[in-house]
Amino acid sequence: MYCPKCDKTVDDSKFEEISEMLSRIGNTLLKNGKCPVCSTDLIKPPVRGDAGST
Ligand SMILES: [Zn+2]
Repeated sequence: MYCPKCDKTVDDSKFEEISEMLSRIGNTLLKNGKCPVCSTDLIKPPVRGDAGST
């Protein structure tokens, strides 16, 4: 997932781990699909164009 405001990407493989960790300290924003820093709705990360079109 990607935060357009912070310009940060959260890896899908780390997403659960990080959201779990944050919810343990009372930050459920990431769990709800929002950026834990600025609470902006996270979007899918920009695709780099090699997602199987060849
Ligand atoms: Zn953010």
